[in-house]
Amino acid sequence: MTNRVLVAPSNDAEQARLGAQIHALMTRLFPICRSLTGAGVRETLDILREHVPLEIRSVPTGTPVLDWTVPKVWNVRDAWIKDPSGQKIVDFAVANLHVVSYSTPVRTVLSLDELKTRLHSLPNHPDWIPYLTSYYRESWGFCVAHRLVESLMPGDYEVCIDATLEDGDLVWGEYVVPGTSEEEVLLSTYLCHPSLANDNLSGVALLAALAERMHGRVTKFTYRFLFIPETIGAIAWLAMNGANLSRIRHGLVATCVGDPGPLTYKRSRSGAPIDRVAELVLRDRQRPFKCVDFFPWGSDERQFSSPGFDLPIGSLMRTPYAEFPEYHTSADDLTFVTPAALGETCAAYADIVDVLEADETYVNLSPFGEPQLGRRGLYQHLGGARDQEAAKLAMFWALNLSDGRHSLSQISARSGIAFRTVRAAADALIAADLLATSLPNRSPS
Ligand code: ZN
Repeated sequence: MTNRVLVAPSNDAEQARLGAQIHALMTRLFPICRSLTGAGVRETLDILREHVPLEIRSVPTGTPVLDWTVPKVWNVRDAWIKDPSGQKIVDFAVANLHVVSYSTPVRTVLSLDELKTRLHSLPNHPDWIPYLTSYYRESWGFCVAHRLVESLMPGDYEVCIDATLEDGDLVWGEYVVPGTSEEEVLLSTYLCHPSLANDNLSGVALLAALAERMHGRVTKFTYRFLFIPETIGAIAWLAMNGANLSRIRHGLVATCVGDPGPLTYKRSRSGAPIDRVAELVLRDRQRPFKCVDFFPWGSDERQFSSPGFDLPIGSLMRTPYAEFPEYHTSADDLTFVTPAALGETCAAYADIVDVLEADETYVNLSPFGEPQLGRRGLYQHLGGARDQEAAKLAMFWALNLSDGRHSLSQISARSGIAFRTVRAAADALIAADLLATSLPNRSPS
């Protein structure tokens, strides 16, 4: 029997190594100040290119893309606030979350009351720094711990944001594993957040690790990996790839994949086959998981699943964005994500790839009555008694539903039998000439 596992780790130790590898890549990328555009995105892509040969794509500032326009490029060199005694009390060099992303440059002196209108903090989490952006409205501000705000004395505060907003390019990375078919699986993630771990450096590092594992493999589907800035990157990519979207058969958005919560699958908008495959993979892993229906907010699935495109794309995550208190704060750091969780999520992504690759639709070549399995030695092809019982039932299901209209993943979902077992049963039936991808040509009599 052929080994149909392409990319999934073969044991717990390999899964643990994979998780450690993803966490190590996150640790390296974590300090970089990323935004929709700018040097941090390019530096991140350069590091990812050490792992997979990403193509860098770009579109210039001012380009109309669908209903949007590509923004100016933002870079920040330095930013700080000095208190009335001249002491730096907020410093971008210490935490890049301190600057509201896309802040316009400023150098001025403010009273305490004026300063407070520019400060953002979290009274309920007084030690955490929030993450805020002002992409499409020119403004500036600082994000700080609420404890600091409460400690400030009246006086003159000097503030500086040494930033630039100028014409340039929106860039992203794209990597393709060419398959024997042009039909595509789209795996997308976003790299526009600064030092935040689960949202979404975890998705970036996980897809980089998966792409690295798939590099050079022979696959049926073509796999396209996107490392894009959220929203505007997805919109720009969709605007530039309209002609090729019909090739997309399946897809997943990777976000928030490293926290210790259970795996969560968010279904596609229109109930695409990826939903069945993702759900049976989670079922077969025999660990707690959740499935939630599509909703039109969240990450880039809201662009891919806008009604004009309605791509067959779901999202596999752990705790969904905004459902963990650390979301969009400095508490979403490298201690919030664990190598164990990253390894488990990556293994689930790899399992999905393996099921997509191994899923086929067959026809029963002996459909009138039950073929005699004992005569063909088909009752002995697996080990232990329980395995043998499941293998026997899987053969009955595969023979019964292989009418050219039910794929093995559909048979696995309907029977409740693990995909791996159904696949093995189908292989045994093929070897016994009981299943085939199509009926043999019969010459007219
Ligand atoms: Zn986010």
